[in-house]
Amino acid sequence: MEVAIGLDLGGTDLKWALVDARGRRHGGGTTPTVADRGRRGLAQCFRAAVAAAENMGARKRLRIVAIGLGLPGAVKGPRGIVTVVPPQIQGIRGLPVAAMLEQISGVPAVAENDATVAALAEARCGAGRGKAGVLLVTVGTGLGGGLVINGRTVRGAHGTGAEIGHGVFMPGGIPCRHDGIAGQGCLELYTSATALVRIHTELGGAADASPREIVASARRGAHAACAALVQIGTNLGLGLASAAALVDPEVIIIGGGLAAAGELLLQPVRRAFRNQTIRPLIRGAPIVKARLGNTAGAVGAALLALEETVRPPQRPSMNSKSRRKVPRV
Ligand SMILES: [Zn+2]
Repeated sequence: MEVAIGLDLGGTDLKWALVDARGRRHGGGTTPTVADRGRRGLAQCFRAAVAAAENMGARKRLRIVAIGLGLPGAVKGPRGIVTVVPPQIQGIRGLPVAAMLEQISGVPAVAENDATVAALAEARCGAGRGKAGVLLVTVGTGLGGGLVINGRTVRGAHGTGAEIGHGVFMPGGIPCRHDGIAGQGCLELYTSATALVRIHTELGGAADASPREIVASARRGAHAACAALVQIGTNLGLGLASAAALVDPEVIIIGGGLAAAGELLLQPVRRAFRNQTIRPLIRGAPIVKARLGNTAGAVGAALLALEETVRPPQRPSMNSKSRRKVPRV
């Protein structure tokens, strides 16, 4: 069976998976991210993940035909030049990550924003299955955005399509620390795990509480934790209303680490969205939790690699006998 290696680069680890064209995972794993060491560190962790994937592929008699990478930033062009990166992964801006992966693995490679590939995975085999317009946000350290319209990812002219996290939320607000962005008051500074920790502290919660601990406190009804989640949920709902006004999606999917907070986060998101959005979207664009969990990035990266680098099977020509068959819809 033909599969692609899907990679999902994060601040602490690089996830990998072997995935077929239907989005089924045939195993995977993680390897630590070597941050702060630029090209050499990145190549080192790519090589480790590719070697582990190749070993598993050989054991399971899978044929690896492509490789795809999702990363928390923006990439441009067929060589996958990194143009924007978050503060947790410095030193890789300007690197041609797709070209590097092609050299390491010997198969065609693509690179794309991690939320964009997660949106593709959710659109193909998760919470957005069967929907023509899928808008996904990943609420983690930052706020990622991905958009799939009629089955195709929206990358934009510079590879920064659907970067909702860098839309303006607060004019003159907190400066954005991304390498490649000079702005202030980006939405992700007001709705992300990082924002949750800051707002929780501002509301009197323990300054050293992790996002996970804050969510656990909120489940027990702690005031600062509940109020902080309501605040970032409200901010996200408002941001989503702006995004939805532009793209008119059929479903809005919330993924990323903080999606684990479930209704504690989703309820304030829905409430703020409902009060702000265009009327038909209140029912028409339900806000739901992602279904694929933390494998969505690697699965989507592999799917994108299979779709963009492997030639689809030849359709029967118009002159063949098959034209009299009833077309499948
Ligand atoms: Zn920003």
